[in-house]
Amino acid sequence: MLNARLDDRLVVFFDIDNTLYSASSNISHAMGQRIHAYFTGLGFPDDEASDLHHKYYTQYGLALRGLIRHHSVDPLDFDRKCDQSLPLEDMIKPDPALRQLFQDIDRTKCRVWALTNAYKPHAERVLRILQLDGLVDGLIYCDYAQPNFSCKPEREYYEQAMRTAHISDPSKILFVDDSRTNVLGARAVGWTRSVHFCERGLKAVEGGQPKVIGNDVTKDGDDVMEVSSLQQLRKVWKDIFKHSA
Ligand SMILES: [Mg+2]
Repeated sequence: MLNARLDDRLVVFFDIDNTLYSASSNISHAMGQRIHAYFTGLGFPDDEASDLHHKYYTQYGLALRGLIRHHSVDPLDFDRKCDQSLPLEDMIKPDPALRQLFQDIDRTKCRVWALTNAYKPHAERVLRILQLDGLVDGLIYCDYAQPNFSCKPEREYYEQAMRTAHISDPSKILFVDDSRTNVLGARAVGWTRSVHFCERGLKAVEGGQPKVIGNDVTKDGDDVMEVSSLQQLRKVWKDIFKHSA
């Protein structure tokens, strides 16, 4: 096996939630409800809980980080009550076409990692349910056990990801995420081959508030590549797929 430090292959980072499964699973709705319940459990009335939830999500990238910073919440308790209590087995199932996509990536040219703002147990659980756990080489996650952990779209998160995956050249990184904000954050650190997975028209919950996917995207003249299906990556990232695929 190649020593990762000497490995000069490209690295593809796949976001997990609402990327490896469709937003139509409504997992973001269920997650939003649990986070809301966590706020009300701290004693906030409904409207204040909703406001704070959205404010922290917008300000810190994750509601949890505001809860830690301002309300001394234990992130591991939050994770147990929010992410780990989701009935994921009833909400998502393996997608043979997605498994095939992962299998068709030429591993002599490219390593495949998952990269998420969730904590490790949730990330591993999703990958296991989708039967992708044997097809990824590594996982970048938010380490809730560390005080002041970073998350997307902060520069530090992407830089830490590069250190963890032992890749120093950002031009060798490919990345796909359903959050345009996260894609723009990645591009800002030189991940120029970042792609926005955008299921326009579907409904999702972000920061506890419902949204129609794509409606908030303002192109502003940027040239962010957008796909509506991960299968389109076969064309966008033609160089990492086996030629026969
Ligand atoms: Mg996502």
